Amino acid sequence: VKHIKKYYPVSTPFGGPKKYVKAVDDVEFTLRKRETLGLVGESGCGKSTTGRTIMRLTEPTDGQAFYKGKDLFQLKGQELQLMRREIQMVFQDPHSSLDPKQYIGHAVEEPLQIHKIGTKKERLERAMDLLHKVGLREDQYYRYPHEFSGGQRQRIGIARALALNPKIVICDEPVSALDVSIQSQVINLMQELQEQYELSYLFIAHDLSVVRHIADSIGVMYLGKIVEKAPTDELFAQPLHPYTQALLSAVPIPNPGLKKNRIILKGDIPSPLNPPAGCIFHTRCPHATERCKTEVPQLKEKASNHWVSCHLYD
Ligand code: SF4
Ligand code: MG
Repeated sequence: VKHIKKYYPVSTPFGGPKKYVKAVDDVEFTLRKRETLGLVGESGCGKSTTGRTIMRLTEPTDGQAFYKGKDLFQLKGQELQLMRREIQMVFQDPHSSLDPKQYIGHAVEEPLQIHKIGTKKERLERAMDLLHKVGLREDQYYRYPHEFSGGQRQRIGIARALALNPKIVICDEPVSALDVSIQSQVINLMQELQEQYELSYLFIAHDLSVVRHIADSIGVMYLGKIVEKAPTDELFAQPLHPYTQALLSAVPIPNPGLKKNRIILKGDIPSPLNPPAGCIFHTRCPHATERCKTEVPQLKEKASNHWVSCHLYD
């Protein structure tokens, strides 16, 4: 993914200068086969919009996203349809993404119908098999979403996403709405399916502790930009960006004897309509200097595969 941008124009009264909300501002990353990239940040940082833009659920303002050598943003018609088979999405709230009046088996089967794949019998068998693969019973095919728990509904959402044999699954906060005990079950399932089907995941979350166990590497987003990007272990051992350090300080640690200083950030996230000049994080950064107020830091590689945008490391 190269330099993707998604700007939303905002109407300005009295013909003033055109304004934009820069929801995604120059985001760049690589997602390899069978790998999981976590995208983490507070709500409104642009992580969902990044996923939706790659899926072409919303059109990009600029940038490129290459898959099998083709720029997804240039695809049209038949080619776009084929791409849509291979890149699927799992949503945060399976409650709203499943039709309450549709049997869950039909929901799983529907993508096959839409893409006209297989005979009726084959589709039914595939849906039954998928239900089984995500830990549900075949005889639950003829049941409605409301008959299932939140965790089960997310399993149904995953089965539906896998119906077309995708290669990439964009998971937008797939466990955020679930109880902590259920979260790990769903994450374990996703890891098993990843191995089995050689999937790549773009795993979006607001919580670093959720992505820690599933992500090979993590990108930390703030106000539409990736401010730090590193292999997961490296990011947890050596967070460089002050924002990442603050996020990490809020993650509970398993050993209560180990004391950790919680870094509390002052203020709220600034409006993306009026992002701060210089470093976008300077209004909340405990280490901000005069330079940070005017000069934009660039994302630079500080150690092998460890990228950070902060003047502290120049
Ligand atoms: Fe903080 Fe300055 Fe680094 Fe931005 S560039 S994160 S304000 S120290
Ligand atoms: Mg979101």
